[in-house]
Amino acid sequence: MAGERRAAARVPAGREAFAAALRSQGLRVTAPRLAFYDVLVQAAEPLTPQEIGDRLAASGVNQATVYRLLEALTAAGALVPQLVRGSQVGYELSPPFRRHHHHLRCRGCGALTDIEGCDLSDALREIARRHAFRVEGHSLEVYGLCAACLEGPRR
Ligand SMILES: [Zn+2]
Ligand SMILES: [Zn+2]
Ligand SMILES: [Zn+2]
Repeated sequence: MAGERRAAARVPAGREAFAAALRSQGLRVTAPRLAFYDVLVQAAEPLTPQEIGDRLAASGVNQATVYRLLEALTAAGALVPQLVRGSQVGYELSPPFRRHHHHLRCRGCGALTDIEGCDLSDALREIARRHAFRVEGHSLEVYGLCAACLEGPRR
């Protein structure tokens, strides 16, 4: 029963919850800000500020606004910064806006890719039992080489 409740809690919160996060930062809920949410919700990997700006250009959102929103929403805990392609910082929505997931990190090009779903709960329950440890969450980054880097010339 508790497991079912936890499964239901994993369904991502929608635009309404995002609007509440905006308000908590003293930001009004506007169409461009909701467009910002839509871009992040549809992304298959963390996006850099530039990538977010490019995708929002058609919605009339300028780069300065993107930076302001990234700062405010990271402070509100709605976004998580992740290192992508070496030294760039990408952003993705954090739970409850985004389903819990893991990452693949390519050590060739630095690309960070989302892996949807998580099969670790059984293993973690066993670890928790063995160590009398109350698990509250986890993150997993799998490193290796992406398909493009595997095909490309070896260094
Ligand atoms: Zn790669
Ligand atoms: Zn991710
Ligand atoms: Zn997981």
